[in-house]
Amino acid sequence: MIRSVEGLIFALDETATHDGPGLRMTVYFKGCPLRCIWCHSPESVSPKPEVVWYQTRCVRCGRCVEVCPEGLRSFEPVDPRDRSGCRLCGICVEECPSGALEIKGKLVSAGEIADHAMQLIPFFRRSGGGVTLTGGEPTFQADFAYAVLALCRQAGIHTAIETCGYAPWEKLERLASVTDLFLFDLKHPDDEMHRRYTGVSNRLILENLARLIESGAELVVRVPLIPGCNDSPSTVKATGLKALELGA
Ligand code: SF4
Ligand code: SF4
Repeated sequence: MIRSVEGLIFALDETATHDGPGLRMTVYFKGCPLRCIWCHSPESVSPKPEVVWYQTRCVRCGRCVEVCPEGLRSFEPVDPRDRSGCRLCGICVEECPSGALEIKGKLVSAGEIADHAMQLIPFFRRSGGGVTLTGGEPTFQADFAYAVLALCRQAGIHTAIETCGYAPWEKLERLASVTDLFLFDLKHPDDEMHRRYTGVSNRLILENLARLIESGAELVVRVPLIPGCNDSPSTVKATGLKALELGA
């Protein structure tokens, strides 16, 4: 029963406008195989729930350390980030006076996500929108992603995935059967630079991109333009040529 397939998400946005056509309900999956140096959602990287600390909200009161039943001591100097040993009891989050701590990572079922999306169908219809899975990396929880998208498809909702493309082909191929649109990141055309900036080779990513294009999947290649990393005219040109070479 695919409704009961569970996965870990860290956010859900009902009013996204940059994650595919129309108004989107975007679901943020936890866990990512890449380590991009520019990652704008570091709370997505770990595949497990965690307490995150917002430095700019912290007033350095020390309350989180006082109340932690595990005796986590991370306040010398003032920095509640070192929480290895944390059992996610949530006490520090409740006690923090300034909302500087949050538990990121919630276990939900595919059925819950699909039910949520179904409530938004009138907005999707009016705007030409739908549901987008992002992260983190949705293929990192491929069975859960498949279940969510299959249920949305059954309900007539347009489905999209934002992916880094770093996944076994079999997972992408299965997901393609329930995905109307792939938003596929191409971060750097050069393998050595790709390793330097993301921690992994781009070979599998390029292979998957070529195979998805060949399979006839609807696809948009996207390039996160990062100053000093992949925004030089020569790299931009090489990225475009690589996409063309692969059939985009
Ligand atoms: S309780 Fe909140 S505000 Fe106080 S030190 Fe901890 S994180 Fe900062
Ligand atoms: S969630 Fe609980 S165990 Fe984890 S750091 Fe906060 S108080 Fe300590």
